[in-house]
Amino acid sequence: MKKSGLAHRKSLNDSLEGEVKAFLLDEGQLHTYDDLTKVNPVTPTTVLKCLQARYRAKVFYTHAGCTLVALNPFQPVPDLYSLDVMKEYHCAPQPQESKPHIFIVAEEAYRNVQGQVEPVNQSLVVSGESGAGKTWTSRCLMKYYATVAASSSLMKSQDTVERIEKRVLDSNPIMEAFGNACTLRNSNSSRFGKYIQLQLNRSQLLVGASVQTYLLEKTRVAGQPANERNFHIFYQAKDCFDETVEAMVHLGINAEKQGHIFRILAGLLQLGNVTFCSAMDESQPCDLEEKSKDFMHRCASLLCVPVEELQTCLRVQTLRAGKQSALFKPCSLADCSVRRDCLAKVIYAQLFEWLVTFINDSICADHSTWCNFIGLLDVYGFECFQVNNLEQLCINYANEKLQQHFVAHYLKAQQEEYVSEGLEWSFVKYQDNQGCLDLIEGIPTGVFSLLNEECLLNRASDAKQFRVRLEKELSDNGSMSWDKFSKQPHFTVAHYAGKVSYQIEGMMEKNKDPVPPELIHLLQKSENPLLHQLFADRDPVGQGTRGLRQVVTVVSKFKNSLENLMKILHSTTPHYTRCIKPNTDCRPLTFKKEEVIMQLEACGIVETIHISAKIHHFKNKVNFFLFFHRDGPRRKSWYRSCDCTDFVFVLQALMDSLAEAELDDAEDLQEAMPTELDPILRARGSV
Ligand code: ATP
Ligand code: MG
Repeated sequence: MKKSGLAHRKSLNDSLEGEVKAFLLDEGQLHTYDDLTKVNPVTPTTVLKCLQARYRAKVFYTHAGCTLVALNPFQPVPDLYSLDVMKEYHCAPQPQESKPHIFIVAEEAYRNVQGQVEPVNQSLVVSGESGAGKTWTSRCLMKYYATVAASSSLMKSQDTVERIEKRVLDSNPIMEAFGNACTLRNSNSSRFGKYIQLQLNRSQLLVGASVQTYLLEKTRVAGQPANERNFHIFYQAKDCFDETVEAMVHLGINAEKQGHIFRILAGLLQLGNVTFCSAMDESQPCDLEEKSKDFMHRCASLLCVPVEELQTCLRVQTLRAGKQSALFKPCSLADCSVRRDCLAKVIYAQLFEWLVTFINDSICADHSTWCNFIGLLDVYGFECFQVNNLEQLCINYANEKLQQHFVAHYLKAQQEEYVSEGLEWSFVKYQDNQGCLDLIEGIPTGVFSLLNEECLLNRASDAKQFRVRLEKELSDNGSMSWDKFSKQPHFTVAHYAGKVSYQIEGMMEKNKDPVPPELIHLLQKSENPLLHQLFADRDPVGQGTRGLRQVVTVVSKFKNSLENLMKILHSTTPHYTRCIKPNTDCRPLTFKKEEVIMQLEACGIVETIHISAKIHHFKNKVNFFLFFHRDGPRRKSWYRSCDCTDFVFVLQALMDSLAEAELDDAEDLQEAMPTELDPILRARGSV
């Protein structure tokens, strides 16, 4: 049958399009879509429906082109991460063809590391909001590598405590005990960012690891939001304590060191109970509340510092007048509490840093023994609270950087590649967040620079003044806005994931993060060897290390560490996993569409899917033409190898091809049709 004319071509296209839609809207099939790029049309609604159907079917992983979407089941899933499953993915000739799983990402990175030409380091970036499953996923990945890349078989005795994989895994309970806490959003929320590099030798075996941490939320040690808790370690005297201690032993933190650590922690608990009251004579330092005297004594004894000096440090400011003399000024009641909290924060932050260094010393392989690494990044997701301050600005800035990396790596690169080859390409508008990054990190007039400048001026911080300065310098930047009627000085940043208003009050102090020199002097006198060691090298005045006197602000430190991280990420092949929290109550198997869609938008996943779908579609189209015009004999086997979802793309490719092809080709096409297509076309009278 040979028809001609545009009318027929249109009717054929329409009929095929109808079938495609009918096929796609078959809700019973939605859970079978392993890759969201194959959903058609790609809209937030269809993507959401597909994820919901999969979640209902207890399928928790779905590809979204180059990204893996992981839905949190909020309940143990038997056998999803078992040894057998690990082996299955590790041994699969083509793991990508297996069911979507975090182990596909793991295995792909593992195989990539070997590189065909030269080895390429890999990074697995796990993102998502609090409670979405980042840390869980990172742990799964670590376990995977500790299993498939275990080097212990090389060792004489496999169950020796020296086993490196065990030590690498043991870093988790320690870091989580000291760095995680129960918050309203997650009962095991990481209060720091983490990048761990798993070091592999030439034979691809795990021989060590190193950890880098970012921005520990140290304020938590001094106070927590309502219904939240302090870091886990403070509650572990029953729960999980054995596990933490066991991990410490494996990593070489011996009983003596543990004793020092636990005395410091107990000292901090006592310190937290100390409260002050105004003195009768205002010219005198504040008094201790009666019940606080005991706490103060116990605190001093546990921190091994003289109690008199501790009391003085917390209540009296020492003003240096030249090298020899000093003036003493009683602190206000509020300042006494600030000093108490400052002492707790500086000790805890330093202890955490010491632990990280100790862990690194214990698990880091000698440089000569490893040649490649797989990095796992588990950082806090985008944050937008009722009140946001410097912490949120830093966290959201980090997310902007990661988003830019993602956009640059996948989306820009792929789109531009097609355009540069002169191939037709309809651009999907992706958000370029450079404007927002300029606003935050720009030199000399980005928010960070201006904030640092303000802090270095060493004058009393004035939020209103800073707000005026920001407006003067940054009003041209489209990512910045203000609510003119707001009483609180603030600024609003349009992040890629949404607008966030930042309160300016307190921002300068947070950025300076000053520690009164008296406190450092006191800690340097501690007879607790560990506490003494924590501060031995610290310059009490400059706040930096001795010999390096400079003012290091929170944002400059954070920006530097992030820049280093980005350099590392840029030098690796990245793999992105987006963890999604299906409901805010952490209830098992409950899927709240509104909450999921917000997260999908926040991480730009709909856009990603859109672009990936276009790439996929485009490749199919190219393939189709190749097979159709040049490679006749192989056509049938190609069709036969198509699975059900590929079939949709065949249909689309057909439609597109028919629109362009000569009608003679249509007859050839009919010949090449897979049998599944026949009934559809026959029913439409097209064949
Ligand atoms: P935060 O940013 O607050 O640290 P997070 O993204 O790291 O959050 P996780 O602590 O990894 O979140 O996950 C929260 C909880 O969700 C876990 O304690 C666990 O109970 C559950 N969970 C996450 N992923 C899975 C999974 N794959 N299977 C079963 N439970 C999971
Ligand atoms: Mg976490």
